[in-house]
Amino acid sequence: MPTQLITTVQETRRVLSVVRQSGRNISLVPTMGALHAGHGALLEAACPLSDCVVVSIFVNPIQFDRREDYEAYLIDLPRDVEFCQARGADIVFAPSPEEMYPSPQSTFVEVTGVSEHLCGRFRPGHFRGVATVVAKLFHIVAPDLAFFGEKDAQQLAVIRKMVLDLNMPIEIIPVPIVREADGLALSSRNRRLSPEERRVAPALSRALHAARQYVAARRASVAEVRQAALNILAEYPQIQVEYLEVVDDASMVPVEQISGPVRIAAAVWLGPTRLIDNVYCPAVGTFQDV
Ligand code: AMP
Repeated sequence: MPTQLITTVQETRRVLSVVRQSGRNISLVPTMGALHAGHGALLEAACPLSDCVVVSIFVNPIQFDRREDYEAYLIDLPRDVEFCQARGADIVFAPSPEEMYPSPQSTFVEVTGVSEHLCGRFRPGHFRGVATVVAKLFHIVAPDLAFFGEKDAQQLAVIRKMVLDLNMPIEIIPVPIVREADGLALSSRNRRLSPEERRVAPALSRALHAARQYVAARRASVAEVRQAALNILAEYPQIQVEYLEVVDDASMVPVEQISGPVRIAAAVWLGPTRLIDNVYCPAVGTFQDV
């Protein structure tokens, strides 16, 4: 079956009500387009668990804290629809900004606590914009399952808390980070890197994985873990560190001691491009692969 491209809320609801009435389950993969193998992994995870996979493609203006970043976010819809078709998606929902926000938005979803640290400190309003648009997509699509990448671990934690707090009957499925062969996490922002910046960019994942080894070795304090990563990043004058923190995996709050599962998460600037990445560290003593 060819992937069906739908651009209106009304038509999406109409088509999906038929799917639902026939007893089939619905999955949602929310994206901002410019699809790459990271998004492909979400689709690969979704297809075997779903009768009907909906990919939303919407560059959400209210989650950008910098106008120039929103304007630089270019997508090629026909290419993205083909990408979805090749990976078995049933529907692409690609509304215009006017379709999603027909009047100025007065209602927002704010997920306190989990939104406050890491990116939340540096991107005012970002997670409010994310939670609001995802809540709107959840109301429009009413999926049984929704898939999110661990690449945006704080976003995943925000959505999980929103679903819990607002009693949304949706199972949130996390998908591991897809990386280039040299470790760089796939991101639509990577295409903005100059050849020199692209050469330097894998230092971020190298630094985080080096810090992860310190956690695994059970001998490190939070300060030592952070320093292990910062030492590697300091070798590259092109890299400006915005934050690098060890946080509790559920609350996204920086920890003072490492005991339960944590995530080491960072944001760096490489010239005009902001990159984020993170690594998961299970509870000390339960590492399998280090
Ligand atoms: P975006 O289009 O950047 O808003 O991302 C849409 C979804 O794809 C989010 O759930 C992201 O976490 C996920 N995603 C983006 N890049 C990757 C990646 N490299 N690996 C896994 N998931 C990703």
